[in-house]
Amino acid sequence: MNNLGNDVNNLYSRDGMSAEELFGKGDGMTYNDFLILPGYIDFTAEEVDLSSKLTKTIQLKAPLVSSPMDTVTESAMAIAMAQCGGIGILHHNCTPQYQANEVKKVKKYEQGFILDPVVMKPDHLVRDVFESKARHGFSGPDKPIFGIPITDTGNIGGKLLGIVTARDIDFLKPDKYEIPLMEVMTKREDLVTGRSNITLKEANSILQHAKKGKLPIVNEKDQLVSLISRTDLKKHREFPLASKDSKKQLLVGAAISTREEDRERLHLLVQAGVDVVVLDSSQGNSVYQIDMIKYIKSQFPEIQVVAGNVVTVNQADNLIQAGADALRVGMGSGSICITQEVMAVGRPQGTAIYKTAEFAARSGIPIIADGGISSVGHITKALALGASTVMMGSLLAGTTECPGEYFFSDGVRLKKYRGMGSLDAMEANKGSASRYFSDSEKLKVAQGVSGAIVDKGSILKFVPYLIAGIQHGCQDIGSKSINQLVKMNRSGELRFEKRSPAAQLEGNVHSLHSYEKRLF
Ligand code: GDP
Ligand code: GDP
Ligand code: 5GP
Repeated sequence: MNNLGNDVNNLYSRDGMSAEELFGKGDGMTYNDFLILPGYIDFTAEEVDLSSKLTKTIQLKAPLVSSPMDTVTESAMAIAMAQCGGIGILHHNCTPQYQANEVKKVKKYEQGFILDPVVMKPDHLVRDVFESKARHGFSGPDKPIFGIPITDTGNIGGKLLGIVTARDIDFLKPDKYEIPLMEVMTKREDLVTGRSNITLKEANSILQHAKKGKLPIVNEKDQLVSLISRTDLKKHREFPLASKDSKKQLLVGAAISTREEDRERLHLLVQAGVDVVVLDSSQGNSVYQIDMIKYIKSQFPEIQVVAGNVVTVNQADNLIQAGADALRVGMGSGSICITQEVMAVGRPQGTAIYKTAEFAARSGIPIIADGGISSVGHITKALALGASTVMMGSLLAGTTECPGEYFFSDGVRLKKYRGMGSLDAMEANKGSASRYFSDSEKLKVAQGVSGAIVDKGSILKFVPYLIAGIQHGCQDIGSKSINQLVKMNRSGELRFEKRSPAAQLEGNVHSLHSYEKRLF
């Protein structure tokens, strides 16, 4: 505000509306119904800090979450989202073992000290190394793990005798696969190693100077304690925003339902190293969910629990009191969703976010705006209304990292995308049916549809576009960070305006015979 007197200040405060004025009138509104008025720019878009809380204790550098849907998030998506600064939530339309293994793939993809490396004995055969790839996954796109320390016991903790890496066995012909590793490994006396009290920084520096790919870490008895990989340093350099835990492993979440048998699933996920559990329910305000939150908190106090979905203050209050570390907000706003049409229940997403966020902020509980995000501008709007992060299905569907194969229809390259409450998904496995129904219900009422989405390329290019888009939006608003955006919202400094249907038309491309829309 300037100091020209009350008159001018009055004009300032009557230009646009605060969020409270916009949402206080009882109308249900969503993203396209309003705009944010521009502010004052005195910083570059790249300076805008998008750090934000996913849950009470987990902070992300980008406020982006991929939805637990079987056409969106498995390990490939979760790895890419975490590398880009967000996080992926693994779906549960699969067996508990399958889901737990997907968690392991994310947690093993990158790390600081590798505390449980694949280890072998000198009398294992070359063939065993090739076979282990099937069991232990890959270190990069299609690249099996090959950096295998050799100890006398074949386990971590055994005396270090050597190491076998890709270079030692890559060019061996199949007739040499029966040779013991003893004969191909690099022997102990030629290995550069680090001592067990070393810091990650020091270890990385040794690795760089020695120009080796692996640094085994040993204790005073020369027993193997852990392993450090140069590849991880490169991954760290390429993805400076990556979301990681204290061990430098990528963060990952997993969805479960609130049934009794999901307790076993929960235990497997926790053993596999999951960081966040999302209770996947379309109407989260239930005794089942409250019991599950309490159960998780009593068994695994360190695991962060996202409860939901909710859209009202009353629903939010119950789940916060039960111990939720974040709330997932949205009912019927998803692109594939027919809940509002079939169930007559739900809430326009803008209002749902504003109301729940305003309430949850009092207890310091972050809100995840889930569903209905169809452009980068919607993300900025969700954040401006008080969401700390956004969860996306359709916007991320159709990317390389989504489960499923591409197919062609009318010459367009597509990938399948379906609602988890669609008959298609519910018939595929019962994990999905449990979000929307009890198993005993004979007749299933669909709450979603099944469709297809155009090829969008890789998440590794698409998410950086989203990040840059949000930064530019915040710059126009005059906000240097998401934290500042929240403060501007609460103080009433952030100004909004409703858009009439004609204004909405005007705000989109119009009056052209034809055009091409390229986003980045
Ligand atoms: P910063 O990278 O210096 O901002 O701080 P961090 O706490 O992220 O990293 C501390 C040290 O660990 C630095 O030397 C990093 O290069 C290194 N580092 C970070 N992530 C990884 C990783 O995944 N693997 C390895 N080996 N080193 C890492
Ligand atoms: P590269 O030739 O440098 O890619 O080395 P590796 O084939 O040994 O793969 C190293 C990558 O796989 C790093 O990102 C590790 O964090 C990851 N990784 C995950 N689990 C393991 C494991 O058990 N052993 C090894 N060596 N790497 C692992
Ligand atoms: P989108 O980003 O595609 O607009 O919405 C994704 C969100 O829709 C998911 O995160 C989830 O909350 C919700 N969703 C997923 N499948 C279904 C479904 O079949 N029915 C309903 N009602 N919502 C769904």
